[in-house]
Amino acid sequence: MLKIFSMFTLADLPYSYDALEPFIDETTMKLHHDKHHQAYIDNLNKALEGHDDLLGMDIKDLLQNLDKVPEEIRTKVRNNAGGHANHTMFWKTMIQNKDFKEVNGGLKEAIDKKFGSFEKFQEEFETKGLGRFGSGWVWLLDDLTIIDTPNQDTPLMEGKKVILGLDVWEHAYYLKYQNKRVDYIKAWWNVVNWGKVEENFSESR
Ligand code: MN
Repeated sequence: MLKIFSMFTLADLPYSYDALEPFIDETTMKLHHDKHHQAYIDNLNKALEGHDDLLGMDIKDLLQNLDKVPEEIRTKVRNNAGGHANHTMFWKTMIQNKDFKEVNGGLKEAIDKKFGSFEKFQEEFETKGLGRFGSGWVWLLDDLTIIDTPNQDTPLMEGKKVILGLDVWEHAYYLKYQNKRVDYIKAWWNVVNWGKVEENFSESR
């Protein structure tokens, strides 16, 4: 019988490690992608050893079907599959600063309508990021709701559609910003890939 082994793998960053300088430093990007993200993938593959059906699943499907994962590995799978999906999206929604474009088009109109202005939207997003106690993420959903989640939990688990996410774990900013999460969040706006976010927004319509 032909047996196909499937494993989750780490994709290269869509830019160089130093592409987000000076806002996100090269060392942080290297550690964050090559060590932290890789570790989520390694731990996920390890947890799913012997469960070829689950290893072959799309990561989103896996996260939406955690009830099908055996209970003794469910928390491990939830944390590490979440970590894999969250970081995969995170890398794609950032862009080299020189290629930065402001939000525009339908997404800009929708943000203005919902929040009053882009600045108001940023304020609300920052407030959620600062209010998330400990480790977690801030998300902009396709209906332009802003929510935050603990650990590596992801709105994907509840079938929600995410168009932008921000990692507020200390490993994402501690080397450059130490404890100043607010400075990291404010700097991060400079490398948001609004083209990609707009794409996510229109695909979710
Ligand atoms: Mn992270």
